[in-house]
Amino acid sequence: MTLKTLTEVLAHAEADSYAVGAFNVSDLNQAVAVLRAARQEQSPVIVQAIAGMHPYDDEGWWWDRLRELIESHPTVDAVLHLDHGRTFDDCRRAIEHGFTSVMIDASRDAATDEPADFDANVAATRAVVEHAHPLGVSVEGELGTIGGAEAGVRGIVEDIIFADPAQAAEFVARTGVDALAVAVGTSHGSVKFTTDEQGQRLRIGLIAQIHAGIPGTFLVLHGSSSIPADSVRTINEHGGRLPSSYGIDTEQKQQGIASGIRKINQGTDSHLAWTAALREALDADRTTVEPSAAIGVTIDAMAAAVAQRMREFGSAGRLAVH
Ligand SMILES: [Zn+2]
Repeated sequence: MTLKTLTEVLAHAEADSYAVGAFNVSDLNQAVAVLRAARQEQSPVIVQAIAGMHPYDDEGWWWDRLRELIESHPTVDAVLHLDHGRTFDDCRRAIEHGFTSVMIDASRDAATDEPADFDANVAATRAVVEHAHPLGVSVEGELGTIGGAEAGVRGIVEDIIFADPAQAAEFVARTGVDALAVAVGTSHGSVKFTTDEQGQRLRIGLIAQIHAGIPGTFLVLHGSSSIPADSVRTINEHGGRLPSSYGIDTEQKQQGIASGIRKINQGTDSHLAWTAALREALDADRTTVEPSAAIGVTIDAMAAAVAQRMREFGSAGRLAVH
């Protein structure tokens, strides 16, 4: 059994001041890429999936196969995490299929998509914690409003409402969450910031303040992909139409880690690498229809993007310590 809880993996990260990347996978080949990177880099890893975002007929079937795939990598310390669970039922189903960690994102009302009332967020999050903890499953909550669009999750959120340190402490005390996603200047999706490439996006002081108030809770950074210009260029050179956009640079993420960030969600960057590789491969060989070579190229590209993040976050080489 190789699956770990979020708490187990992030406790090591907290002790040694590094962060663990959480990589979104939409199918089994993407999971193969993430696990290959983890094995090569000797890095702990968080494999995460969003409810509804996969190409299969049956979500329970997909989640079972994903769990089995991870379990077939006994040398990797991996967490299977539900990203952006919107409802109690999303979380309950994921736990039923063997997820060792779930996020309940009750920061916005599931029906209206408006920012949720603090007490409503507390109540919804608390309910998931009460269900998950007796089953040995970790829970991540979200406080404040992280901007942007998480594909399939909600529409574009224009206004970032920053997390408040006092409210974060109250939220943790009342819910018992293990990890907390905090709005500290990042934005979801592949279109983040359209101006000011060099701007300081992350509020490092705010991260440090929140961390000081809830030292036993692992802080999570969402919406912090870097949007590498070379991936965007490759996509657009081969038929894509991505607008130019700027993400969060590596140095800022590393400052965030130094201030207490322990989990960094990187959904978009590895998917940009995947898309760029697929477009380039199909364009380069216009006569082959047998899929294995093109699929292989996407796995290689995604594994390389994930491995790079593992090195940048300081999680590479950490498997040997326990
Ligand atoms: Zn997110």
